[in-house]
Amino acid sequence: MAKPLEYNATLSERIDVTDALTIFKIAPDKQPDKRPWFVPGQYCVLGMNNADKPELGGVRRSMSIASAPEDEGPTEFYVRWVAKPESENPLTHQLWKLKAGDRMYMRPVAAGVFTVPDTIGADDPRIRVMVAAGTGSAPFVSMLRSELRRDPNADLSRWVLLHGASYPADLGYRDELHALVQNHKLHYFGTVSRPKEAHGWTGDVGRVEAYFEPARLTDLEARIGLLPGGFTPKNVVIYICGLTGTITGTIIPLFDRAFIPDFKRIREALGVPEDVKDSVFYEQYDTEPVIDIKDAAVVAPLRERIQTALARV
Ligand SMILES: Cc1cc2nc3c(=O)[nH]c(=O)nc-3n(C[C@H](O)[C@H](O)[C@H](O)COP(=O)(O)OP(=O)(O)OC[C@H]3O[C@@H](n4cnc5c(N)ncnc54)[C@H](O)[C@@H]3O)c2cc1C
Repeated sequence: MAKPLEYNATLSERIDVTDALTIFKIAPDKQPDKRPWFVPGQYCVLGMNNADKPELGGVRRSMSIASAPEDEGPTEFYVRWVAKPESENPLTHQLWKLKAGDRMYMRPVAAGVFTVPDTIGADDPRIRVMVAAGTGSAPFVSMLRSELRRDPNADLSRWVLLHGASYPADLGYRDELHALVQNHKLHYFGTVSRPKEAHGWTGDVGRVEAYFEPARLTDLEARIGLLPGGFTPKNVVIYICGLTGTITGTIIPLFDRAFIPDFKRIREALGVPEDVKDSVFYEQYDTEPVIDIKDAAVVAPLRERIQTALARV
């Protein structure tokens, strides 16, 4: 049996975006000694004991931080209820029972290298295209908020957030992000994959990775101020966050533009020379392989595509 967790935090507030998407604001008993106490893009570990079945003990899961590291007060997380859990003690099913004031576990340190300083470095002038499905927008919300906390007049025109969800109501943080478009030149596009059920929706449709299909890439280039053909690692760096499908669906079409994922075994399988820099960084919420590099039938055509693209640049 997993050992029960010792609770060290309190749920300050929950905002139910929909029945299955909730923003949790959590206050650890011991507040950070100094702020900023993490780097935007990092995650914390949250945990709960199973009150109904104590024999199952505690469950802990990683969750990206959505608040800015400069913010006072509780730490914010954007969480999806997992309808078909893989474990017999899913954390999200415990979280959904919580109300403000309830106790829980939050590991009081942040972890992870899905951050601008750990990838390209803060001074890199390229356009940052952030690709998220569902709650994968959390680390990007943190990054954007942090830009504003450090400079209330920040120009966000180099930041592009592409956010996919099933329905418009699932596009959490939409109002806040639209305000950043209006006031700080953020490029933000929400896209819904079930438009037939979304009456009145006039935004983009399809899954978020569809922005990178060859037929649509020219349109994206125009929207973010690039010339046709300009969507290459020379001008753009890609961050992806979410489940495998979003990551695979984004990196494969971008092989044709010579974008290289920051994943050693994929680089090696595709024969990417060591001196070619990574230009796609991802945070994966599940454990499915992004590309089955053991399958020669999968690898061979991708290898050819990337070698052709690299020969062009
Ligand atoms: C670094 C990192 C950051 C994460 N940040 C977030 C976050 O900000 N918000 C968030 O909602 N989740 C996040 N996750 C996923 C989270 O850790 C859990 O896997 C998820 O909440 C399911 O846990 P569970 O115990 O309820 O279900 P379990 O039955 O224990 O299922 C775990 C499995 O569910 C699958 N899964 C994970 N996430 C989802 C999902 N969104 N939809 C469908 N299936 C899923 C995966 O295969 C995972 O292995 C993050 C994961 C990692 C590794």
